[in-house]
Amino acid sequence: MPTDSFGRQIDYLRISLTDHCNLRCVYCMPLQGLTFAPSDAYLTPAELEKVVRAAAGVGFRRVRLTGGEPTLRADLLDIVKRIRSIDGIEEIAMTTNAVLLPDLAKPLKEAGLNRVNIHVDSLDPERVRRVMRFASFDEIWRGITAAEDAGLTPIKINSVVVRDFNEQDVVDLAKLTIQRDWHVRFVELMPFGSGECARISLSKYVPNQETRERIEDALGLLEALPNENVSDESKNYQLPDARGVVGFISPVSEPYCDTCNRMRLTADGKFHLCLLNDDEVDVKAALHNGGDIESLRQILLRAVQSKPTGHKLHEGVSTQHRQMFQIGG
Ligand code: SAM
Ligand code: SF4
Repeated sequence: MPTDSFGRQIDYLRISLTDHCNLRCVYCMPLQGLTFAPSDAYLTPAELEKVVRAAAGVGFRRVRLTGGEPTLRADLLDIVKRIRSIDGIEEIAMTTNAVLLPDLAKPLKEAGLNRVNIHVDSLDPERVRRVMRFASFDEIWRGITAAEDAGLTPIKINSVVVRDFNEQDVVDLAKLTIQRDWHVRFVELMPFGSGECARISLSKYVPNQETRERIEDALGLLEALPNENVSDESKNYQLPDARGVVGFISPVSEPYCDTCNRMRLTADGKFHLCLLNDDEVDVKAALHNGGDIESLRQILLRAVQSKPTGHKLHEGVSTQHRQMFQIGG
């Protein structure tokens, strides 16, 4: 398994398939002024397969498909099938807003996808419209149900907590875990760049300690659960008599950089070395020049070796040249 220069074992590849999205969450994509990668910049299914083969060859075991919105890729099933055919890849997961899952969940499961993380910030239809803008709660809920029916489980729900938008909704979201064996995870806002979304992410930030207190005041004390995996970014708990899990992902208030096991690949073919940092290593040029698997392995190992020790949000430093929708979370 590849080990970086700080001794961390890196075996998890998160692939952004596109920087386009069918929604416009207030903290992620502005309504105007967006620029996207040119259409010929996206890696093709065959190129993605080649990169994942190289990654599997050096010890990567898990792949996550993300975006933008990964379900917008017309060739998504082909991509999943290709990755599924690669020896050594034990798990393929996807992060999605679920809007297109009613039609896609079953074919994705058949293609080899193991599970999904679904992003929804509220159970209140009005507030979903306000935070996620082009989304309707009913559409997302149908997507969650389709994923569960197709066996893309365990269902993990990700909710970003945004002051004055949805910080009160965390109680209803956490309540979902009482009757269902779902994981509901609350994510702290992170700033990217310097535009409107960065301003919202800084000014509407809610620390997870506050979210936790709000949930415990309403629903009872959360009992800590042991982490199944040291690199799980979520600190997990259970409500009294609940079937599911409540998790807190706190990159700002409790950074987990020392257990980072990730490498990210942007839709336009760069290894992005840390979510909250601009450093990248290009792999697209090698792909376009017909680079073989061995040369891709060398590029990936160089990227792993160059991973920074951790983010510097506490010093006011964050990614400047990429937004979250261009990296994939
Ligand atoms: N479109 C898919 C989705 O929304 O799940 C996948 C891509 S999205 C960029 C991945 C995750 O990033 C989502 O859970 C979203 O809520 C989260 N996210 C986006 N912008 C964020 C920000 N500024 N801070 C924290 N999380 C953010
Ligand atoms: Fe789209 Fe996901 Fe960003 Fe929302 S968080 S705008 S669904 S990419």
